[in-house]
This record gives sequence, structure tokens and C-alpha cells, in this order.
Amino acid sequence: MKQSNWCISNDSCVKNKLNYWESVFSLSNGYMGIRGVEDEIPAGSNPGLYIAGIFDKSECLISEIVNFPEIMMTQLEIDGQIISPETCTIEEYFRELDMATGTINRKIVYTTKSQKKVKIESRRFLSFYDLNCGAILTTITALNFSSHALVHTHFDASSLSREGSYFYDEQVKHYHVININDQFEADFQAKLQLRESGTFIEFASAFVCNGVNANFRGRRIHGETVNESLDIPLQKNAPVVVTKFFVIQDSREFKEQKLAQIANIKLSRMKWNGFNGELIRSNIILNQRWSQTNVVINGDNLADKGLRFNLFHLMSLGNEFSSQFAIGAKGLSSEHYGGHYFWDTEMYLIPFFLRTNIAVARNLLEFRVDTLSRAMHRAIEQGYKGCLWPWQSDERGEEGVRNTVHADGTIERRDILDQYHLVSDVAFACFQYLSQTGDEYYFSMRLSKIVVESLRFWQSFLIKNNSVSSEALHIPHVMGPDEYHKQFNDNFYTNFLTKWVFIAFFDYYENADEKRKYDLRTTNNISQDELNDLKLIGNRIHIPPLRDNVIEQFAGYFNLKDVIIDQWDDHGLPIYPDPSIGEGLPDVERQNAFLEDANHTQLTKQADALLPICVTPDQFPLETIQATFRYYAKRTLHFSSLSPGNYALAGALAGETKTAYHLFKLAMNMDLADIKNETATGLHTACQGATYLAVVMGFAGVQLREDCISLNPNLPEGWVSVEFPFQYHGARFFVRVEKERVILTMKSPGAVSVLFGGKKSVLRKQSKKDIIQFFMLTNKSDHAV
Ligand code: BGC
Repeated sequence: MKQSNWCISNDSCVKNKLNYWESVFSLSNGYMGIRGVEDEIPAGSNPGLYIAGIFDKSECLISEIVNFPEIMMTQLEIDGQIISPETCTIEEYFRELDMATGTINRKIVYTTKSQKKVKIESRRFLSFYDLNCGAILTTITALNFSSHALVHTHFDASSLSREGSYFYDEQVKHYHVININDQFEADFQAKLQLRESGTFIEFASAFVCNGVNANFRGRRIHGETVNESLDIPLQKNAPVVVTKFFVIQDSREFKEQKLAQIANIKLSRMKWNGFNGELIRSNIILNQRWSQTNVVINGDNLADKGLRFNLFHLMSLGNEFSSQFAIGAKGLSSEHYGGHYFWDTEMYLIPFFLRTNIAVARNLLEFRVDTLSRAMHRAIEQGYKGCLWPWQSDERGEEGVRNTVHADGTIERRDILDQYHLVSDVAFACFQYLSQTGDEYYFSMRLSKIVVESLRFWQSFLIKNNSVSSEALHIPHVMGPDEYHKQFNDNFYTNFLTKWVFIAFFDYYENADEKRKYDLRTTNNISQDELNDLKLIGNRIHIPPLRDNVIEQFAGYFNLKDVIIDQWDDHGLPIYPDPSIGEGLPDVERQNAFLEDANHTQLTKQADALLPICVTPDQFPLETIQATFRYYAKRTLHFSSLSPGNYALAGALAGETKTAYHLFKLAMNMDLADIKNETATGLHTACQGATYLAVVMGFAGVQLREDCISLNPNLPEGWVSVEFPFQYHGARFFVRVEKERVILTMKSPGAVSVLFGGKKSVLRKQSKKDIIQFFMLTNKSDHAV
């Protein structure tokens, strides 16, 4: 493992890349997230500080994640001149994300207008040890002078949220400042309150300089902006260290009256332990997370590093302690998409956390259980039974889709709300939890509520249309994940997943013992008669036939005009076949123009017909996987970042490793190489999950089924091996997949079945001390325990 594969670096501070790097260098710890703005926050920066699950609506059309005051800003002033990229010559610049320590490290050497050379090195982190805490340490060295300097920091409570409309053209302030302390000698303290919910948020910080005789120049409060300054003596070549520690607490966890006290206690601890002491504590937890998560790709340094970047951000978003929120489409790297939660969580993030950190996966599912009653109300409001999740959920389970408001005030419902597959996506994730943890108690007492309400929803939604048989039930007028086609019947993915959920539930119920059956019935207030009805319904859901082994995306799809992609951009991303469409329009309008046009063709925005294969590979024969992959690969534009990772996974399963590898690189580099030219507005969190799944399920071929671990590797050219840990049925495993063999190590007591080359073997570990290895030859005939 080379250290360089643990660092992402930038060696030029260029204005038009500021916002891109802010996303790449954003940090999160599951409780809060902060954009990686340059320490001085030069003009053009987009600072962002978000607290997981803290939303507010006020005068917006939808509630959005709140952008809180930036707190890490550190700025030097020499001879009355502010030292920043805008005012000085940059002689040297280097900034990196060190994924091993979770820090952003920066070194910059400036020459001021009066020819003073100063080196500023800084290090910042959000703590994994105490999620409410973070710090930035700045080391200042005068290189060719001795003088006094001022170091400024601030608390800018004028921060606005930019997502009232999708593209940063409306800005709203979602909190009030309740108080800011003005006792100069004390540490800084401010209390904010959300405008709608009344939630209180306490900010506390200490701005300290150790080792030299620094003077605190005081706190200047200008309305809602507070500046604090330290006067430091600079001696030529003698580094001076300034640290800002901060704590953020909110009243979801502690009573308002206690917040200041708790924040102060934590602040004192941080000052006592110092920056390094706190960082060491944070790293103990971070190391543990890495030991559960890290994937090593030997033989392909770029893939090794690129994947790690995706894992770092994904892993950092997991919160093991709270189920009050889920993970937004951009994580906590920006407020794009309003910070809302999509099917992304269930289909791309939960599979990652189920393999690496079960506590986080359970919290994400628990969030849906907690918002189930709201989803049940939505179903009723729209004339259905059961539950209907919001397409974009806020923390209360309210719909975050912003309907189109016309000039005359009329509101038009958006077609994306027809993505009813979300009902089955969430239920499917509940079964994923069950099959990968074996935790029947939690499933039957909590998650089964989601599953049963999903079945009830479909019971009220399915229709007969006699086109196939008088018995068959159809799913009418829906939109599949490919958002280019609307109001179609029998989207294969939706029908397939829904039928899968029905079958999985009745398999589970019928094989349960009497006590479990009783629990399931009472938890869900369901009678035997209702169960019988639902079972019949599930059996009747129509699964459309394949054509030449190819899944048809929805009824009638094959009759649409066939257009094949024949142009790709420099990254290898498909270009819309008719480039004149939407030419000159802004991005959103251009997308809408594509949408209108594509609706009449077989072009798809993102993986759709391929998804059943990605989520349940064991349900499809190789010929179907291959034929479907080849068909849709030529017609999918990957306009959603979710798509290339799915194609990489399916391509690997199809044995099309070369094409799969190309698609994997698109997914892996989505943010690092700014493939879609939009990383400035935040990271692509679901894409990160899809990238991970492409490697572990696709290339390494490690699939976790209900009754066994299945191994079916397809390593790309040049990969010597892939190794990673995972969790399954309460036990920990480590796998190393090489071209010629797979070594599976069981790290905790137990026994599991392993399927390889069509044969099942049992892998056992009885003692805590020894490690059991399972060797297999990848000619798929020979294996031995
Ligand atoms: C995709 C959706 C996805 C959303 C948030 C959209 O562009 O089409 O499938 O849920 O982004 O990531």
C-alpha cells in the first residue's frame, strides 16, 4: 500500500477550479459536513457547513438542508494587508486530502506587495471521535522578515442556502441568531435557532496561539458577523502555531439550556488535548472504519487510489448513532438537491454499509421506519393503500420535489414523481438487511412494517388489462429509473422488483416458526385472509417476456425509434446522438430538451432494464445478462452519475471485462476527473456506492446471497488482485481475489456456505485465534477447503 494512494492533491490555486476543489476537499463525519474552501475564503468561494438532518423550509417551496456559518476561516494580515490568493503572489501551493488521517493539509507561500515572504501551513479535520467537534491548525512562518501580524477568524452568520431553486439562483436564510457572546476574554459562543422547527444550534469555538506571546485583539461583532483576531509576533524562520477548535451541538440531542455547557466542556477537552491529541483520537476511529472498508487493488494504482477516494467520502457519511436522517444525494458536500434523500440510499448506499458497517445500514433503514407513517399518509392522499415514499425526502419524510410553478401561479406535478419503483426499492433493502445479517428479530419487529405496507400499496396500485391474460396484474403509467420515458406500463425493473418483494415476503413468512409468524401478524395487524389475498396478487404480477434474451425496459419500448450512440466525449461519456438538440440552452433546459426528444426513442438516461441484473444477479442466466448488457450499453447515455457503475457491474458479470473497466473508470472518476463538469455543486454519493459495488460484486465477484457467499471473479486486465473486508451474517471476512485463486478468510467464529464454480462448500471458524482460508482455483472446477 503506497502512501500516495491515500492522498488526493492539488498543486495550483486557480479561481475557476475553486468550487470543484471545495467539493473534492469537503469533509464529513456523519454529523456534519463542511466544504473545503480555501482557508482565507477568497471571492468566488462557495462555503458550506451542513448538519445531517437539519432542514428548514420557511418561504421556500420545499424544505432544504441548512447552510450554517462557515467556521474554519483563517486569514493573515501583515502591514495592514490581508494575505490571500487575491492580494498576493503565490510562490508555492499544495493542498491535499489525506484519506488515512481524514485531514486537509495545505501549504502556501505568499509574497506580499511589500516583498515579504510568508509560509502558511494548515491542517483541518472533523472528528470521528466526537462528531460535534472539528479543528484547524495553522503554522505561520515569516521567511524573510520579522514583524507583528494579525491572524483573523470569523463566524459569518449571514450564510444563505442556495437551493431554494436548484441552481443557486435563490438564496434563503433559514436560522435566526439568538445570541452571540461579547465577553472578549471568554471563548466564542453563539446560539442559532431554525426558523420553522425552532431547533437550537450552539456553536462554540476557541482561537488560540501557543508558544509565543500572542495577544487576543478581541471580538468585533458587526450585526451577525463576528471577527476575532490574534496579534502574533513573527520572528524570521520561527514558526508560530494558531489553532481554532470548534464544537457544534443541537437541541435534537440535548435540551436547549444544556447546549452551551456541553459545548464548553467539549471545547475545554479539545484545548487540553490539543490539535494532535484530538486528531489521534479521531484517527483511532477512522482506522477502525478503514479496517472494515478499505479495498486494495494491486496492479492498478489509479483504480486503487480513485476507488479509495470514493470510499473515503462514502464511509465518512455513515452515522452509527442516529437514525434521525439519511444520506443526501450529495452527501454533506453541498446543498444541491436540497440535501434530500432518494432511492440512492437504499440501492447504492445501504448495500455498501451492509458490507462494511451494519450499524449505519440499520440507522438508514430505521429512518424509513420512522417516516413510514408520513409515507402512509401520502399513499392515502393519492388514493392508495400502504405506503408511498416521497421521491426526494427531507428528514420528516416530506416530499422535496419542487413542482413547476407557472407564471399564472398554477402548479404542475412533475413526472419524476411517477417513479413508484421506490416503494419496492425500500422494501428490497429491508430484505437485503435480513439476508445479509440474518437479524430476524429486527426484520420482523421493525422492517416488516415497511414490507407489508409496500405490499398493500401495490395491491391498490396494480391493475388488470387483459392484454396478456385475464389473471395477470400490471403496473400502469409509471416512470422507471430512466427518467427519459414517462407514463409507460410494466417497467420491467418495477414489475420484477415488486414481484421479488412479494415472493421474498411469503417465502420468509411461510418458513417462519409459529412465534415469528405471530409476531409478523401482530406487528403488521394483518389477518390470514389478507395474507392469502396478498400472496395471490404477488403471484399474478406480470413479468414481461424477453426478446432474444434481452429484457424490454417497458411495454412497447422495442417499438420506439432505435437510435444508437456513436459519439463519445473526451472522457468516453456518450454524447447525445443529435447534438443540435438543446444547443445553447442552459444545462437544465438542455436536459429537458433531451428528455422530450428521447421519449420517442430507445435512448435511455441511465441504467434501468439492467438494474434487475445488478441487484439480483443470481436470478438471470448468463445469456440474459450478456444480451441485455450489450443491447442497452449502446443506448444508454449515462446522464445520471448512478449509471456507469451499474453498467460496470453488469459488464463484469457478463464477462465483458474490458468494456466494464471503461465504465468503472467513468464511475470512479466521476468527481475526481469531473466527468460531468458539475463536481463544483457537490459529490456524487450514489455513484460512489455504485463504484464500490462494481468492484466487489462485479470484478471481485463476491455476492452475498441469503444462503451463501457466491464467488465469481472477473478481474480486469492488469489487476493482480483485489482485497477487502466485508461482513456477512454477523461474521467478519476478508477476501483476496487473484487471477488464479480466491482466498477467503473468516475472521470471527461461525460457519457459512460458499458457492464457487457451481459447488457449495462450508467454511467454518471455531476458534477465535486461527484464520481459516478457503483456496480455490479459478478454472471453476477445482476447489478445496
Ligand atoms: C437521477 C436519479 C437520482 C437523482 C439523485 C437524478 O439525476 O436520475 O435516479 O436519484 O439524480 O442522485
